[in-house]
Amino acid sequence: MSEIKCVGILTSGGDAPGMNAAIRAVTRSAIYSGLKVMGIYRGYRGLITDEIVEFKTQNVSNIIQQGGTILKTARCKEFETKEGRQLAYDNLKRHNIDALVVIGGDGSLTGARIFANEFDLPIVGLPGTIDNDLYGTDRTIGYDTALNTIMDCVDKIRDTATSHERLFFIEVMGRDAGFLALNGAIASGAEAAIIPEISTKVDQLAELIQNGFRKSKNSSIVLVAESPITGGAMGLAERVKNEYPSYDVRVSILGHLQRGGSPTAADRILASRLGAAAIDAINDDQRNVMIGIRNDEIVYVPFVKAIKNDKRINPELIETLRRLSI
Ligand code: ADP
Repeated sequence: MSEIKCVGILTSGGDAPGMNAAIRAVTRSAIYSGLKVMGIYRGYRGLITDEIVEFKTQNVSNIIQQGGTILKTARCKEFETKEGRQLAYDNLKRHNIDALVVIGGDGSLTGARIFANEFDLPIVGLPGTIDNDLYGTDRTIGYDTALNTIMDCVDKIRDTATSHERLFFIEVMGRDAGFLALNGAIASGAEAAIIPEISTKVDQLAELIQNGFRKSKNSSIVLVAESPITGGAMGLAERVKNEYPSYDVRVSILGHLQRGGSPTAADRILASRLGAAAIDAINDDQRNVMIGIRNDEIVYVPFVKAIKNDKRINPELIETLRRLSI
């Protein structure tokens, strides 16, 4: 049996819809299995500045439907130093916290891995990011909601795009990953997606123009992943103005609205399942793992794999988009 009696929980890095559902699931599963729960505010920063309070079941009432995170989130440079992490560890000890659940993206799980190794502390991670860019899990918490938001936005932009005869570049999030752009394009019937995974290999813009934004269509919508590799929507529009001046090009950058909103059913269910599994993992003395989902089954992914490995884009999705945009 595990010696763990008290679990701390925090959200870190970029916020994602469904983080609250995850906080609720972790808190209630922990209390259900007899553990004490401490909520840590503002991610690693709150661990260093000691913003830590006990969470009871009521603390997580009525939050499953809320976007954002009630624990707040932050980025914390100090945690990237050994001295900062020592302060964080001292606070954990002061509150008798024996294990930690970290909900966040790539950076947050990188920090968790370093912290866990340094102090021999059990840490379990939950993939909380709209980008879906963590290896070893089919989905991350927040991705489905962001995808639905993108779909709604593109539907609206299409109404105006078809009224004129325009080429629209719509920029979506996804630092180094094209999941939102590619699946957003399929879901909204866009003509193409320009994603970093392909931009390194071919000039996607030239390919698109050559294949012809067909004359028979009176508007074209292209989703672009925000990334230095793709050049972003502004960069591509600039190129079109210079290289293909006959096109009437417009740009729309969706920005932070992609992070907001009430989580979809899929994200709430995912967050609830992963949160419950995080407590199972802690009770089974698992450590240094991210809880993921693959083929609808819970999986435990070592931090090092989740962070270091690149999650591949399924080529079938690229082919499907290409075929359906003729
Ligand atoms: P995300 O988790 O959304 O990818 P960030 O990349 O901004 O967000 O990371 C969130 C926080 O995780 C950082 O502000 C920092 O406190 C911590 N972190 C990231 N990388 C490291 C690292 N190499 N060492 C220690 N902490 C890190």
